[in-house]
Amino acid sequence: MIPYGRQYIDDDDINAVVETLKSDYLTTGSKVQEFEQKFANYVGVKYTVSVSNGTAALHLAMLASNIKPDDEVITTPMSFSATANCIEYVGGKTVFADINKITNNINPDEIENKITDKTKAIIPVHYAGLPCDMERIYKIAKDYNLIIVEDACHALGAIYKNSIIGDCLYSDMTVFSFHPVKHITTGEGGCITTNSEKLYNKLLELRSHGIKRRNHWFYDIKELGFNYRLTDFQCSLGISQLNKLDNFLGKRRNIAYTYNEEFKDLPIEIPYDDNYLYYHAYHLYVIKLKNNIQRTMLYDYLKKKDILSQVHYIPIHTFSYYKNKYNYQWWDFPEAEQHYEKCLSLPIYPSMSEEDIDNVINTVKEFFKNESS
Ligand SMILES: *Cc1c(COP(=O)(O)O)cnc(C)c1O
Repeated sequence: MIPYGRQYIDDDDINAVVETLKSDYLTTGSKVQEFEQKFANYVGVKYTVSVSNGTAALHLAMLASNIKPDDEVITTPMSFSATANCIEYVGGKTVFADINKITNNINPDEIENKITDKTKAIIPVHYAGLPCDMERIYKIAKDYNLIIVEDACHALGAIYKNSIIGDCLYSDMTVFSFHPVKHITTGEGGCITTNSEKLYNKLLELRSHGIKRRNHWFYDIKELGFNYRLTDFQCSLGISQLNKLDNFLGKRRNIAYTYNEEFKDLPIEIPYDDNYLYYHAYHLYVIKLKNNIQRTMLYDYLKKKDILSQVHYIPIHTFSYYKNKYNYQWWDFPEAEQHYEKCLSLPIYPSMSEEDIDNVINTVKEFFKNESS
């Protein structure tokens, strides 16, 4: 079976974890800080706070942004549900802005249309690993005094103009996930990056029960926090994976360019890329087909040959929770809905063998040959 994404783990990773398992600290030890420091260095930011998963990272970013009930937060319907769920966790109101159909990223014009005097923050998502138009979004945020939290769960290693995603040049905080399908993994895991010392201290407190250290054994709890800590053995896996990240990115991009070349004469839309403006991190390789019927046929055809493609994503506003709460109708976000109808993510991950890649290419070509005959 060839999945759409999976981890790459080698002996270095395994040895790093085993070594930490034999040490004194399994959690709250030195590997946590080491990983955070190395991650911060990689993306070029002052502070990194590791947490138990990407969803926890989004939750803490909303709390640190001081989003309160009835505050509005603007995000894209074309993402994993956690991007919007985090707004709901803190009682905020999720406001969606439709995507640009070429980049599949949130459309800045749509963001501006959705701003009210209750809007407090924007969560742009770098869909598939292609950076959003951060200069535009940053300008909007400055004009209306809004916080920006980048959901960069797809975009570790991506570059926007001269800014590495995660350096927070155009945002207050950036969130990453270390789930096995993402660029690097710690099993479950995630982090928040920021250049603000104030946000950094708040995130540290919220990650560990809201504990504010005083002296000796004394501490205070001023605000409810959580236990969202990442363990030391997970962080040692993270350190080991980070050493391989540039390699992983190279492999992903090579697969994407091989697909682009092989698929260029097929009646499909290949992913938008602009090497002049962006360095695409290719978390996903998303093609667009003619319609839902053809997409589902290709999905089934691949599955019969043991290739598991995936649909990213069912638009968040169409889920019962959001539909019932906000009374959304079909066609409220036409670009996101049309993308959903046609999109399919083909396998792309660093441990894919040449044989796996050829297998995917040949099977996709076979499908279209059969279809046209
Ligand atoms: C993976 C992902 C998340 C959630 O991360 P977890 O670590 O699985 O909690 C959030 N947003 C996006 C866009 C993601 O792809």
